[in-house]
Amino acid sequence: MSMEEMLTSANQDGPLAAALTQLDDAADLISLDDSVHQKLRKPKRIITVSIPTAMDDGSFKVFTGYRAQHNMDRGPCKGGIRYHPDVTLNEVIALAMWMTWKCAVVNIPYGGAKGGVICSPKDMSQGELERMTRRFTTELVEVIGPEKDIPAPDVYTNAQIMAWIMDTYSMQKGYSVPAVVTGKPISLGGSLGREAATGRGCVFTIREAMKRLNIDATSSTFVVQGYGNVGAWAARLLEPLGPKMIAASDSRGGCYSADGIPVQELIAHKAETGSVVGFPGTDAVTNEELLELDCDVLIPAALENSINEDNAGQIKASIIAEGANGPTTPAGQEILNDRGIFVIPDILANAGGVTVSYFEWVQGLQSYFWSEAEVNKQLEDIMVRAFDRVYCEHEERNCDMRAAAMAVAVGRVAEAVHMRGIYP
Ligand code: NAD
Repeated sequence: MSMEEMLTSANQDGPLAAALTQLDDAADLISLDDSVHQKLRKPKRIITVSIPTAMDDGSFKVFTGYRAQHNMDRGPCKGGIRYHPDVTLNEVIALAMWMTWKCAVVNIPYGGAKGGVICSPKDMSQGELERMTRRFTTELVEVIGPEKDIPAPDVYTNAQIMAWIMDTYSMQKGYSVPAVVTGKPISLGGSLGREAATGRGCVFTIREAMKRLNIDATSSTFVVQGYGNVGAWAARLLEPLGPKMIAASDSRGGCYSADGIPVQELIAHKAETGSVVGFPGTDAVTNEELLELDCDVLIPAALENSINEDNAGQIKASIIAEGANGPTTPAGQEILNDRGIFVIPDILANAGGVTVSYFEWVQGLQSYFWSEAEVNKQLEDIMVRAFDRVYCEHEERNCDMRAAAMAVAVGRVAEAVHMRGIYP
């Protein structure tokens, strides 16, 4: 399928349609120059590769992999690699576009990219995953690199896979290139503080929102949908600021107690039993009921589209902090706007992860490593500055925070396009 066909078919369905609508809305809001708008609607480069991989049974299988590089005007591309049977090029392009805006909204010098391989990693051995990863990296070797495009983990990829990418790339170059990926093991130049970074960044934005909305943290309550890396870290770091967690969930269901649930004990319970369900002293709630609980802060940290036109009318939280990517549909957002609910959008609320990935890249390039306290301090500075910038935009333009974040992000990328000019 040509790029033109892909973008046309994107108008029917899939995440790319939503990503393009968001860009078009932002372009209207900031009166974006039409030629820049057209440039930003298309990815700079899409790569589709075949990945023949020797399987343990002696056969070989040919996987398909993608890398979409949406924009490089503000710096090299940055974005994760996803291993999942449902990966599509449409999704990979949309995710690359969102990475461009996320990096721009926190003002780190990157454009956006995303990659994916259509595979079922849960059904593959470590050896098969390693061989597939090394061949995928080899196919991408000319288009990735510390100055070009820096992959990171995403769904079903992890620090071990980043280590294989780093090693394969380094073998091809003939020297070690740790800055080619982020999310590496600490022993290979990973950054301290990366694991908690997305939850920590999310909490900084909640804290700032509470100040602006005059919500007293000490008497407030919060609810987490998706008690995984982002959700549990956000809970762990929000609790000491005063708010009480009254409910949390995972894919198996949720638990609720109006008296409050101790965050660490719930983490231990999930580690032991595999779920938050059945935590002593709590009542069971479904994921649907949990979203509609009476609370001050709701943190959706699981899936896309969990807040939509069917439930947005029943949500009682004053603040929604989007730990997940894309948890609110455009129709859901409209209802939340009408009801005056303050949404901290994903490209801002969960940007702490890519920000600390940026710190990892900087540390790798300098071969000089920071303390965890230094990482957390720099993260706080960036998140607070980004929140303030988006909040001012929201007040000045009298628009919701998502539109404000998009206006800031698209405006920054557009300025870079203008200043660089069109080559040749
Ligand atoms: P994770 O796998 O660690 O946690 C996800 C949690 O959601 C798990 O507890 C899982 O049980 C739960 N879950 C799955 N399906 C659910 C459902 N139907 N209802 C309720 N809970 C459900 O993943 P994560 O890294 O915490 O990522 C969560 C979200 O945050 C994703 O949207 C991801 O794209 C986004 N995000 C993550 C990072 C990061 O640094 N990890 C950065 C930016 C954005």
